[in-house]
Amino acid sequence: MPKVIVDEDLCTGCGICIDECPSEVFDLEDDIARPVRVDDCTVCRLCEMDCPSEAIVVEDDE
Ligand code: SF4
Ligand code: SF4
Repeated sequence: MPKVIVDEDLCTGCGICIDECPSEVFDLEDDIARPVRVDDCTVCRLCEMDCPSEAIVVEDDE
C-alpha cells in the first residue's frame, strides 16, 4: 500500500489536494488535509505536484 504523508506544519488547508485527487483520498479536518482513504491511492502524484506548500509526499511501496 502506498503512503501519503501530509506535513501538518506546511499544510494551509487550501483544499487543492481534496479537489484534485481522483480517488478522493483526502478529507479536510481542522484545516489540515488528512489522507483518510490511502487504500484508494493510485500513486498518480497529482497531489504531490500540485500542493502549493509542497506539504505532500507520496511513497510507493511496490
Ligand atoms: S494542497 Fe497542500 S496545502 Fe492545500 S490542503 Fe492539500 S496538503 Fe494542504
Ligand atoms: S497520489 Fe494521486 S491518488 Fe494518491 S493521494 Fe495523491 S492525488 Fe490522490
